[in-house]
Amino acid sequence: MTLDYHDQGHWANNFGQAQSPVHLTGTPAGTTALTLTAPYRITQVAADDTTLRLFGTGAMRLDGRAFQFVQAHVHAPVEHQLDAAFDLELHLVHEDALGQPCVVAILLPVGPADPALAAAMATWRPGAATPLSLDLTPFFPHTATMYRYRGSLTTPPLTEGVTWCVLAQTEHTVSAAQVTWCTAHFGANARAIQPLNARPVLCAQLDLQSTL
Ligand SMILES: [Zn+2]
Repeated sequence: MTLDYHDQGHWANNFGQAQSPVHLTGTPAGTTALTLTAPYRITQVAADDTTLRLFGTGAMRLDGRAFQFVQAHVHAPVEHQLDAAFDLELHLVHEDALGQPCVVAILLPVGPADPALAAAMATWRPGAATPLSLDLTPFFPHTATMYRYRGSLTTPPLTEGVTWCVLAQTEHTVSAAQVTWCTAHFGANARAIQPLNARPVLCAQLDLQSTL
């Protein structure tokens, strides 16, 4: 079933008051380590008509918890809003050993075209899963402001209990044409901003580490 972003006010939300996306503010205090423990190797572009979705393998560690990469996909326009303007949001969806999700969201401003996304866009076919060999590991920026909070999936079933790490960065960019490609193929696939409801937001500088 196609996801209808024009009808998102009617998406069933059987959860509480900790939904995503949210508007994020804050001044970075200290650093938060995110450790890459396995390369992010994409093997397939999914048959998906709501987003550019990429399957593969990878792994990282956050606060001593090990997370396996499950899939990546994009939202245009962005879902999380910051005081600075960004144009495309890449979600790297992970699960820990108990199946608890962590999404690393990389916010991209418009600038030079991104070559990895260009390769994925060139491979995407409507209605057909397509093999693609791509290394997304370099997508993790070395310098970024990281916002962390507890939220939800931004598509139905809108499940809560998601650890969000939202990275505001300028090392990686997308071209205006790449943003237009996304909205032309998938429509505007951003969920509306949800109330923060007194949830704490941790804001720190990303300390990107690697055991690769
Ligand atoms: Zn997403």
